[in-house]
Amino acid sequence: MGIAWPNKHQFAFTILDDTDWATVANVKPMYDLLATLGMRTTKSTWVFGGGENPLNQGMTCEDPAYREWLLNLQAQGFEIGLHNVAAGTSKRERIDQGLDIYRSLFGDENAVYSNHVGCLDNIYWGQYRVSAWRRKLYNLLTRGQHRYMSYGHKQKSHYFWGDLCQQYIRYVRNFVFNDLNALNVCPEMPYYDPKRPFVNFWFVSTDAGKVENFLNRFTRENIDQLVQQGGLCIAYVHFARGFVHDKQVHPRVRKSLEYIAAQNGWFAPVSTVLDFLRKEQTKEERTISTDRLSQLETRWLLNKMRYGPS
Ligand SMILES: [Zn+2]
Repeated sequence: MGIAWPNKHQFAFTILDDTDWATVANVKPMYDLLATLGMRTTKSTWVFGGGENPLNQGMTCEDPAYREWLLNLQAQGFEIGLHNVAAGTSKRERIDQGLDIYRSLFGDENAVYSNHVGCLDNIYWGQYRVSAWRRKLYNLLTRGQHRYMSYGHKQKSHYFWGDLCQQYIRYVRNFVFNDLNALNVCPEMPYYDPKRPFVNFWFVSTDAGKVENFLNRFTRENIDQLVQQGGLCIAYVHFARGFVHDKQVHPRVRKSLEYIAAQNGWFAPVSTVLDFLRKEQTKEERTISTDRLSQLETRWLLNKMRYGPS
């Protein structure tokens, strides 16, 4: 790839931690470790509790102790992203309020968003992640259950907030793969997809949602390869899902992260790394071709058929 990373770093590694089940108690040990290792990554949050049918809810910004802890993380250089405004579905008005609160707490420069399972306000999610024959195949595979689960981009819906997403969110997570080096899979990222215009730029990441996946993927061999390739890895994780037991980080997770930290890597938050790659280029300049997007969708779909949901 030959990317000249800042300060002569050989590669870049960061994390997007979706906030499912997260409490101060069950994820703080992870962040203490990352801080010690000199890694500054991205943790997502919810603004509100509840919403319609919340799934996997942990703490939200309504909890003063949690809020304080997030602000403290941000002051240390971590990025606080958004994982919808709540764990349950929200209508436009509440999303608008939530974005205001999120921005007043964490500032205007927090730019990373990921969709959360089950929220009808998700943007270009479910069947809308893929196009053409892939959408038909996706609906067959999911028995049509993901057809009606994403309205954030539908202008006539109560859940529409596409215009706000365009205004306030710079980067949205989409496809996940097993490979560590996201630039091998998608050298175009962060990319703009003209068929999904309410998202400014998309990025792909490495699926480590479960601790087992993290351990299987972040082997020394794979990390060595990432370094040799001068690549970028964005690990998509749920730190509240088995990464910490009895206030201790899983020993093998700790070893992997220590090994990564010992390499000459750039360990900055997701939007910092994506801003660096984008070089202030416009959407037009970062537009992915239809053929390349089709390849990406196909690869994701085949991966999903083999390994299950993400
Ligand atoms: Zn989630």
